[in-house]
Amino acid sequence: MKTIGLIGGMSWESTAEYYRIMNEAVKEKLGGLHSVECILYSVDFEEIAALQHKGEWDELTMRMIGLARRLEDAGADCIVIATNTMHKMAEEVQGALRIPLLHIADATAEKVVQQGLHSPGLLGTKFTMEEDFYRGRLREKYGLEVLVPPETDRTAVDEIIYHELCVGVIKQESRERFQEVIRGLVSRGADGVILGCTEIPLLIHQKDVDVPLFDTTTIHSRAAVEWALRKE
Ligand code: GLU
Repeated sequence: MKTIGLIGGMSWESTAEYYRIMNEAVKEKLGGLHSVECILYSVDFEEIAALQHKGEWDELTMRMIGLARRLEDAGADCIVIATNTMHKMAEEVQGALRIPLLHIADATAEKVVQQGLHSPGLLGTKFTMEEDFYRGRLREKYGLEVLVPPETDRTAVDEIIYHELCVGVIKQESRERFQEVIRGLVSRGADGVILGCTEIPLLIHQKDVDVPLFDTTTIHSRAAVEWALRKE
């Protein structure tokens, strides 16, 4: 088994899920006492979120490159960034490494395409929904026509992520707000919905909606394990 280098803590609520899901996936494949080989670098998210909201992306890019290199030097065979938003600088991080970065949008898009869908809705932070680093990759590499919610819904989703889900607060009223946002996307033609923020699967599950959901936390964690167990 290869060693997964996991950059986490953004937030730790979802990184804990990555750790659980990766271990479960290894156990499913290998049985017995098998568990994931990984090195976790977990950051203080208060600092990171402050830099994001001040627009200090060059500083954040340098930090992410530094974290990835420390994992590489510590013996990781690949890098997994346990957040969608912090894939904004994925290309710069990959460019600074000898080992591969397993991109969350690639793992997710492969599942969407496998299901024969073309127009997924995308929920995530405002950075992920509004900028092109994520949607652009889905469009250019996979031909997906990504739909995002209107401004008021984007604001509500972003606030729920940073003020509730990232601090471990799960509220029924927020679940209902997400259901409403998802209904809006479906009425505009979305044939699936990407939960493009690694905390959203803590709030909303497939049973809560009628449209196929793509849980990026589970998809990314499982893709990393598949990579780590692949025979050369
Ligand atoms: N974990 C979230 C994501 O997947 C948001 C936190 C962050 O800003 O990294 O985008």
